[in-house]
Amino acid sequence: MKKYDIVIIGAGASGLVAAISAARKNKTVLICERMPVAGKKILASGGGRCNLANDNIGPSFYNPQAQGLVESIFYQFGKEKIIEFFKDLGLTVYSQDGRIFPVTNQASSVLSVLEIEIKNLAVPVELNFEVSEISKVDGGYAVLAKNGKKVFCGKLLIAGGGRTYPALGSDGSCYDLAAGLGHKIITPMPVSVALTAKDPFCHLLQGQKIFAGVKGIVDGKVVSIADGELIFTKYGLSGTAIIDMSRPVSCAIHRGYGRDIEISVDMAPFMDKDALAAEFKRRLSKGFSREDLFTGILPNKFRIVSKELAGGGDADTIAAVLKDRRFKVSGTRGWNEAEFTDGGVEVSQIKIGTLESAIVKNLYFCGEIIDIKAPRGGYNLAWAWASGFVAGLTR
Ligand SMILES: Cc1cc2nc3c(=O)[nH]c(=O)nc-3n(C[C@H](O)[C@H](O)[C@H](O)COP(=O)(O)OP(=O)(O)OC[C@H]3O[C@@H](n4cnc5c(N)ncnc54)[C@H](O)[C@@H]3O)c2cc1C
Repeated sequence: MKKYDIVIIGAGASGLVAAISAARKNKTVLICERMPVAGKKILASGGGRCNLANDNIGPSFYNPQAQGLVESIFYQFGKEKIIEFFKDLGLTVYSQDGRIFPVTNQASSVLSVLEIEIKNLAVPVELNFEVSEISKVDGGYAVLAKNGKKVFCGKLLIAGGGRTYPALGSDGSCYDLAAGLGHKIITPMPVSVALTAKDPFCHLLQGQKIFAGVKGIVDGKVVSIADGELIFTKYGLSGTAIIDMSRPVSCAIHRGYGRDIEISVDMAPFMDKDALAAEFKRRLSKGFSREDLFTGILPNKFRIVSKELAGGGDADTIAAVLKDRRFKVSGTRGWNEAEFTDGGVEVSQIKIGTLESAIVKNLYFCGEIIDIKAPRGGYNLAWAWASGFVAGLTR
C-alpha cells in the first residue's frame, strides 16, 4: 500500500496552504477532507468577501501565551509573504481600513487560486474522508476514515480547524484525535457570536439597527468594549459591535465564571451625557411628547419603546438611560453561529518555529485547532495561511 510522506487532515485554509508548501518541497502529500468539497469556510469568510489578512499583523493581536509561537511563525511567513504567496497564485488584494480583501471581493477567488495550485502540484484530495482514528505504526501513522478507508504516512499534519459552523466542515472531531495522541485540549468555546437576552426591548425592536457603543460587564467589571452596528433581534443582540466584544462574555458564560453578565448599550455614542440631557431639556421645555422625544436621535421605531426610555423621568435620567441601557445576557447563539473557537490544542505542547507536537514526533498542527485567539479583521485567516505554510515544511 502506498505510503505518503505527509498526510494532511483538513482541506481548509491552513490545510490547503500546508499541502502547497509541502508539495513544493517535492514531498508526496495527501489531503483527507471529511466534506464533499474543500474550503467551505473560506467561501463563507468575510461575508463572502474573505478578509484574508490585515495590514497590521503581529503577535500582540494574539493571546499572550501564544505570542511566542505566533511570532516564530509570522517571522517566517508574515503579512508581506502572505500577500506575495497569493500574488504568485494570481490573486491581487487591496486593503480597506487595514483589512485585506481580494480585488474581486469574492472569497471564491481565494479558494480557486489555492485549488488550482493544488491541482498543478498534483496533490490528491480525498473528499468524504472523515478521519476517525490515528494509530502509530512502524515509521509513521495509519490514518483511518469513518468509511473504513485507510492511508499511511511518515508525517501527519492536523489542520482540522475549530468547532464553529459545523455545516462548513470543522466539527471539533480533530480535538478528539489530538487528545487521543496525548495532547491537552483547552475546552473549546464559541466566540465572536451574537448574544441572547430575554428583554422585551429586543423583541419589540427586532430587526432595528443602530450605531452604538457597547460594553461587556461580568460581575460589575467591564471586560470588553466595542462600537459599531448593533442589531436588536427577537432573541437578543447581534451586529458587529456585539460580535467584536463577545469573546470574554462568551467565555464567562460557557466556562461558568461570572454570575451577573450584562451588556451596557450606549444608544447615542455621538453625544455625551450632558449634551444629551441639555437636548432633552430643550425638547421637554418646547412641549415634545414622550413619543416624539427621541426623534432624530434614534430611529423612529424607538417610538414603541419611548415609554420605557422616557418613563416619567427628567432630562438627566432619560439621558442616563440612553447612555447606559443594560441587558442581562442569558447565553450565546452557540456553535452554529459563532465565527471562531476559543480553546484547542494547548500552545505549550507545540514547538516554536516548526509547529511540530512537542510530545509526539512527526505530528504537526496548524490553523484554528491550536489555542490561538485573535480579534476579527483578518487575523484568524492570516494565522491559518502562515501556520499552514510553516507546518507544511514539516521540519
Ligand atoms: C462565517 C465565518 C466567517 C469568517 N470570516 C473570516 C474572515 O473574514 N477573516 C478571518 O481572518 N477569519 C474569518 N473566519 C475564521 C476563519 O475562517 C478560520 O479561522 C479559518 O478558516 C481556520 O482555518 P483552518 O484551516 O484551521 O480550519 P478550517 O478552514 O475550518 O478547515 C478545517 C477543515 O478540516 C476538515 N475536517 C475537520 N475535521 C476533519 C476530520 N476528522 N477528517 C477530515 N477532515 C476534517 C473540515 O471539514 C474543514 O474543511 C470566519 C469564520 C466563519 C465561521
